[in-house]
Amino acid sequence: MAEEDVVQWLYAGAQALLQGSPRMGDMEKALDRVSREVRRKALERLTQAAAAQQALVCPVCQSALQVVEHQRVRTVESAFGKIRLARSYGLCLSCQKQLFPADATLGLHARAPASPRVQEICALTALRAPAGQAEEDVRRLTGIEVGASTLHREARRQGERALSLRDADEHRTQHADGIAALAARATPPQTSFTLVIEVDAWNIRERDNWGKTDALLKAGKELERWHWVFTGTVFRLDQRGTTEAGRPVIAERGYVATRRGLDSFQRQLYAESLQRGLQKAQMVLILGDGAVWIWNLATDRFPGARQRVDLHHVQKHLWDLAHELHGPGTQAAQLWVRPYLQWLARRKDGALDVIEGLAQLPATLVGLTRSQRKTIRREIGYFEEHQERMDYKAGKALGQPVGSGAIESTCSQYQRRFKLTGQFWSLAGDEAFLALATHHRNGRWSQLFPHDVE
Ligand SMILES: [Zn+2]
Repeated sequence: MAEEDVVQWLYAGAQALLQGSPRMGDMEKALDRVSREVRRKALERLTQAAAAQQALVCPVCQSALQVVEHQRVRTVESAFGKIRLARSYGLCLSCQKQLFPADATLGLHARAPASPRVQEICALTALRAPAGQAEEDVRRLTGIEVGASTLHREARRQGERALSLRDADEHRTQHADGIAALAARATPPQTSFTLVIEVDAWNIRERDNWGKTDALLKAGKELERWHWVFTGTVFRLDQRGTTEAGRPVIAERGYVATRRGLDSFQRQLYAESLQRGLQKAQMVLILGDGAVWIWNLATDRFPGARQRVDLHHVQKHLWDLAHELHGPGTQAAQLWVRPYLQWLARRKDGALDVIEGLAQLPATLVGLTRSQRKTIRREIGYFEEHQERMDYKAGKALGQPVGSGAIESTCSQYQRRFKLTGQFWSLAGDEAFLALATHHRNGRWSQLFPHDVE
């Protein structure tokens, strides 16, 4: 059949559906509908041919399978509608499992009807919107009807897959071979480079049903808990630039987000850093706010890395002190704080100058209250503790970030999806979704969906 015949057939079919509508959107939808059934049939034929070609060997250990049944039929929910697929299956004696090698090759999962494209569509939309809303968007964008619960279940399944890939990488950090394997994935430049790691944490809310008694339920008490989501980002300094509008952009970066606790976060961050060139980096720079866990982690896992406290957090300390000494929002507070801010940002050992300035306050400011004196002492302690992490002038001269803005914007992006009002997540559930979202951000989508290659 010539191409022109196909075009003519599509044209006539669409025209019949259109009933004279002059709207292009209607035309696009009509063409999609007219050709859907032939695409469905062609897909059915393609998958059937592939299944017929499939050797009956175990997808895990490659041993020959003992045939259990030929031509076992299953249905698959594809991007063009339901298809039927007949394939053989057998028993692997070494794995002690009944297996469908054709399903594995095609990318179909046991007991889940979604085709790989439908799996991917569910995963992508669930990352962006709650399942109820996603259902409509999927129908609009693809013409596929997937119920909200199927969509959620399918997205969850993909999350579990992402999670097991992540767990495997985390496990690799525990032994030398694994570390080498992770490092081998990095494609660092030949020239020397700086690797930047920024870390932060945010809160997630979950409904806590465990041990919830009827009495509490009747009292209408909602039990919920907050969990920390430890978050990190890793990028090479040479991959940071600015848009024409002057907005900072990072061409390529890695992400970590987990609520499995600090130990797991530490290993995941290490795995991600290895994959972003940690072992080849001439310099490693770690940025965060003042939180103690960040510096413990940095010292433990990245010895030799330069540590830097986010400049805005330090400035906030000075502003808070200014307000306490001279009153919030007063001109006196502004005048007082200005030289401190300048020393900090512009002098080589600015933190030392700040400490000296603060140390002289009790002698120079008359009528300080006890609580003000206490605050001054506390702030001196803060600057003394972090002064090595306040090399802002030197950092700026090297074109390095002096703030942890990159991780803060990452956290707010995660929060936009994971902290929707009234949304509760189960512990297992959101770790899977976090893993899925992070996998997507990390540019490793094709590990889950091999068809996702340009
Ligand atoms: Zn096997």
